[in-house]
Amino acid sequence: RCGYVAIVGRPNVGKSTLLNRILGQKLSITSRKPQTTRHRIHGIKTEGDVQAIYVDTPGMHLGAEKAINRYMNRAASSSLADVDVIVFIVDRLRWTEEDEMVLEKLKHTKAPVILVVNKVDRLDEKAQLIPWLDELSRKMDFAHIVPIAARNGHNVDRLERLVNSYL
Ligand code: GDP
Ligand code: MG
Repeated sequence: RCGYVAIVGRPNVGKSTLLNRILGQKLSITSRKPQTTRHRIHGIKTEGDVQAIYVDTPGMHLGAEKAINRYMNRAASSSLADVDVIVFIVDRLRWTEEDEMVLEKLKHTKAPVILVVNKVDRLDEKAQLIPWLDELSRKMDFAHIVPIAARNGHNVDRLERLVNSYL
């Protein structure tokens, strides 16, 4: 079995960190600064008889006035066509207008969407509850909701098993 996996989310939620964690190698740039990923990058993870082809999308941006933003929006949208499963990453600490924009794009796709709530290691910084999560799951039907910490790998193996089940 073999299929395509799109990783989407606004800048800084941890897309590159997750991809590097899954693929076990530094394929894309991670940085504290948003918008460092300029290109779509493919990586293939083989697990038994399943091959998952991962697509790291550039961030989606509110301002489409700059050429680079238009390019990045186009690249992000095209990466959603014809994938078998979409991983929508959000940061547990912050739901923003940019997340909302990504969500709107996902409503028009046909692939199942797995909602990944990243950075659950940062429990010290704010209350354990994620106030917007209930409302978010009412706005869209997610195939699964998976809390992870991409940086230390917490629950990433479970996410990979769920992803592979759609390939
Ligand atoms: P991207 O813009 O979505 O590709 O996000 P990056 O992968 O570049 O990550 C943005 C920032 O969040 C970096 O400073 C990462 O180290 C940090 N980050 C990513 N995953 C986690 C996580 O699980 N926990 C914490 N605390 N930080 C994370
Ligand atoms: Mg990135």
